[in-house]
Amino acid sequence: MSIIVALDSPVLENVITLADQLDPELCRVKIGKELFTAVGPESIKALQKRGFEIFLDLKFHDIPNTAAQAVLAAADLGVWMVNVHASGGRTMLETCIQRLRDQHYTTQLIAVTVLTSMQQSDLDEIGIQTDLTRQVLNLTRLAAECGIDGVVCSAAEARPIRTDSQINAILATRVQPSPFSLVTPGIRPLGSQSNDQQRIVTPQQAMQQGSTHLVIGRPITQAAHPNQVLKEIYQQLQEIN
Ligand code: C5P
Repeated sequence: MSIIVALDSPVLENVITLADQLDPELCRVKIGKELFTAVGPESIKALQKRGFEIFLDLKFHDIPNTAAQAVLAAADLGVWMVNVHASGGRTMLETCIQRLRDQHYTTQLIAVTVLTSMQQSDLDEIGIQTDLTRQVLNLTRLAAECGIDGVVCSAAEARPIRTDSQINAILATRVQPSPFSLVTPGIRPLGSQSNDQQRIVTPQQAMQQGSTHLVIGRPITQAAHPNQVLKEIYQQLQEIN
């Protein structure tokens, strides 16, 4: 189980101030559209210089060639993980992973299933009549078939994914079976505020349900002692082992 701290600010100085309070041995960091659009690759270099592995959360979704070239550009920046939308479809997913592997990048490529901000009514409105959890499973299955390294999903969807026989059968056929990552945001340690997250789970619950990477933002970034909160979360996780 590893923790990815979401550094959600458009101001590099603020991000650096925060990063300097975190131990890169204890966490990875996530840079999203906010910081990357405002600052660009400089933000990645500044964090790498401090020893952090980076999840570049830009959720690419485009025609296969464009998405794949963007993924390669991200890999070229030396990021540890990058992501695309699974709903970009099979050809997009296969082109992205194929080009990464052809060029021998070890960058993890994961796929966003259904954004956790979306409800069933949002899916209906865009013409997807499938049950939301079913849709997450369909997209996860597709990502698994395409050789993607894992998915971003709600922790509530982790167990349905881990227990889906079709997904497990696909993963079992992989030439080099590697752990299929479930990267889950919406995590709130006991006692912290929910903020704008709707379906929140504790780090322990997420781990028990099958998450492999917890994305945690404000409970850590807005704490008086961010690294202390990080240590406490790991302590709580160890208690269930
Ligand atoms: O502060 P908080 O812990 O809510 O931050 C969670 C991070 O995960 C934010 O960067 C947010 O954009 C991201 N995220 C999310 N839900 C998703 C995908 C990403 O909360 N479905």
